[in-house]
Amino acid sequence: MQISTTLSSDLTSDERLAEILANPGFGLHFTDHMFLVEWTPETGWANARIEPYGPLSLDPATAVLHYAQEIFEGMKAYEHADGSVWSFRPEENAARMVRSSQRLALPELPVDDFVQAVDALVEVDRRWVPDATGEKSLYLRPFMIATEKFLGVRPSQHVTFLVIASPAGSYFKGGIKPVSLWLTENYTRAGRGGMGAAKTGGNYASSLVAQQQATSQGCDQVVFLDGQEGTYVEELGGMNMYFVFDDGTIVTPQTGTILEGITRASVIELAGKLGHHVVERRISIDEWRDGVTSGRITEIFACGTAAVITPVGSLKWDGGEVPAPASTVLTMQVRQALVDVQFGRAEDTFGWMHRIC
Ligand SMILES: *Cc1c(COP(=O)(O)O)cnc(C)c1O
Repeated sequence: MQISTTLSSDLTSDERLAEILANPGFGLHFTDHMFLVEWTPETGWANARIEPYGPLSLDPATAVLHYAQEIFEGMKAYEHADGSVWSFRPEENAARMVRSSQRLALPELPVDDFVQAVDALVEVDRRWVPDATGEKSLYLRPFMIATEKFLGVRPSQHVTFLVIASPAGSYFKGGIKPVSLWLTENYTRAGRGGMGAAKTGGNYASSLVAQQQATSQGCDQVVFLDGQEGTYVEELGGMNMYFVFDDGTIVTPQTGTILEGITRASVIELAGKLGHHVVERRISIDEWRDGVTSGRITEIFACGTAAVITPVGSLKWDGGEVPAPASTVLTMQVRQALVDVQFGRAEDTFGWMHRIC
């Protein structure tokens, strides 16, 4: 892919950038540039470019604004001690975007083009990659939207793929503490044949009202059950779940309707290397409740790119509550092992890291 670059004539000053990178928060500040490439059936992917970051001009009839034909990815660039910059398994994000595009009737962006686009933006905005203190990183948001101006309902004949980047601070301010969960019994995030396995904005839109309930119940996050029987644990709004049993077995839900995270897949491999037996199977909400009460389940954690791994605390629902599991030892061990690979502090035995610059 040939990428043309137009540099910004209004770069963020060194002083302002230092201020932002000292306390970036999440998703608040954006780098000086963005990547774009456009698709039509006639041209295929064309006009790949990096230009100054700024608003898009969209016709009010642009398809994505009406029918939500949209997919996205989330990944990070990490600075290592020698000043080099790396991403974590970017081909996996690219491959997942291909799978999402198949579900949303969007064109497939080749894996190599995806990785090249992300790398090119990070190189141009290299000075926005924070140092590694407090697990800071540059969050990368590739996304694809239906940009045809047409109100008819059919796959868009003009599509735009973009990458934007935003420095991210530590997910946990003031130390890692378990997230409390609210079990929603009136909303589901995915159903059989639906979009649960695709990374698409619609899944997030449908999770917001349940998350609102969780917040009003004093919980940090919401947990969803399967749509068919309302029995099996699926995931949080944007994180996959893990259950550690007293015999050392680790179980993660497999239902066909969850979004399979790259963190989830990496935990399966890492925990295996640490000597644990990892099983992908359905796990019911009763098994959760009984397991924590009896002590058979010793730890529960959630994982995703933003938080990496976070211990799960208490679970509340309408009329009841189970307390936090007894331990977080294995959770923190797996977390440290993963973070050490990402920040280049441990040997990358799986070949997961990709050098950008
Ligand atoms: C992105 C996402 C995850 C986590 O995936 P990672 O690749 O680990 O970041 C989990 N669940 C949902 C619904 C997601 O959208």
